[in-house]
Amino acid sequence: PGRLEGKVAIVTGGASGIGESTVRLFVENGAVVVIADIQDDRGSTLVGELGPHIVAYRHCNVSIERDMENLVKFTLDKWGKLDIMFNNAGILGKSMTSDATNVDMDDFDHVMSVNVRGIVLGVKYASKAMVGANIKGSIICTSSVAGIQGGVASMAYVVSKHAILGIMRAACSDLGQYGIRVNCVSPSAAITPLSLSFFRQALSNPLLDKESIQGILDNNHNLVGHSLSTLDIAFASLYLASDDSKFVSGLNLVVDGGTSST
Ligand code: NAD
Repeated sequence: PGRLEGKVAIVTGGASGIGESTVRLFVENGAVVVIADIQDDRGSTLVGELGPHIVAYRHCNVSIERDMENLVKFTLDKWGKLDIMFNNAGILGKSMTSDATNVDMDDFDHVMSVNVRGIVLGVKYASKAMVGANIKGSIICTSSVAGIQGGVASMAYVVSKHAILGIMRAACSDLGQYGIRVNCVSPSAAITPLSLSFFRQALSNPLLDKESIQGILDNNHNLVGHSLSTLDIAFASLYLASDDSKFVSGLNLVVDGGTSST
């Protein structure tokens, strides 16, 4: 039997990349899933493919409070409860285009609004629904190896991904009493539209060292002998979403083949 049989999940940023692979794996494991994304076309294609197990809550911008409140309402109306909230939507902004001497503050605010405010809102409305219905739910947030180490020309992204660990720890402290668990998944680079634009922006920056960027792109640094796939990351979220991790809260599950430990 699937490890998420009978569970209801929301996946933000579920129309692409890591979110999409996670939606597929959650459905394979018996969950029903609401995709929350601003890319409506890709969301509709996935719904067409996976049928009655998923619905898309369209035009859902995670940084807008009303959208997140309505997303959770929509989920409760559709499936009656919420067990799993995967706060995964995130953006890169203008990473790799300028260094600390030249941070674009409009871009900084924009990245914070999606990557930080968006996750606080996801935690807020998901936990409210879980507490109200006495659901011992699982909240998972996508941080990054950029949440535990620096990176050149990436001020906004690095700050936002560190902040997500703070959100996890604050939420974990508040919600443990209700049996709600809050954890993070922190991947290194896997090929998605987001990481490809990271590499494009990096390779076109004359100040950055092309060889080491190409090295990350080729995944030369991984220790486990293969490149990271979005499915590898989805398996980490499946563990945190399922009852297999029922005593695990406040964990930052780093999925990087060991590279940040060496
Ligand atoms: P992606 O671009 O394939 O998917 C991100 C999805 O989020 C897209 O469908 C996009 O439309 C959606 N989104 C963006 N802004 C949104 C908003 N305001 N409201 C709702 N949806 C929005 O990228 P991905 O690589 O799958 O990224 C998913 C998460 O993983 C992000 O938080 C990213 O920072 C993180 N991450 C990715 C990598 C990687 O190498 N791909 C590594 C570490 C962390």
